[in-house]
Amino acid sequence: MNPITPIINGMKITLKHMFMKPVTLQYPTERPKVAIRFRGLHALNVSHDKAKCVACYLCPTVCPAKCITVEAAEDANHDKYATVYEIDMLRCIFCGYCVEACPVDAVKMTEEFELANYNRKDFIYSKERLLVKK
Ligand code: SF4
Ligand code: SF4
Repeated sequence: MNPITPIINGMKITLKHMFMKPVTLQYPTERPKVAIRFRGLHALNVSHDKAKCVACYLCPTVCPAKCITVEAAEDANHDKYATVYEIDMLRCIFCGYCVEACPVDAVKMTEEFELANYNRKDFIYSKERLLVKK
């Protein structure tokens, strides 16, 4: 084989890739488009200005990572609600079981994937933090 042939073949591949659409993004200025069923950070759904969660304890029961904490109380109409709803994102494996288990569609998973933080305690998402997520 001509010793130049492999060099020419290599250059052909290099040139071909130079004109192809890049597969990388200039993150964070360019944002990735996540898949439709992407499972990112959780959020609590709201109905009539109140969290939809009725503190039934299904999601902490099915959670394989045991990272959901719920504490229940009753309001004046004897309706249950969660006084505490916390998710420890350091333990969450983003399986989505909590969303599937919820009978009232109170919890969802968003497209948010940037969860980096400096303190361990900041990975514990309280009800207030989860309510503001879209
Ligand atoms: S996504 Fe899975 S691991 Fe994370 S809180 Fe829900 S059930 Fe638990
Ligand atoms: S989020 Fe849904 S499953 Fe979890 S405690 Fe609230 S109502 Fe029950």
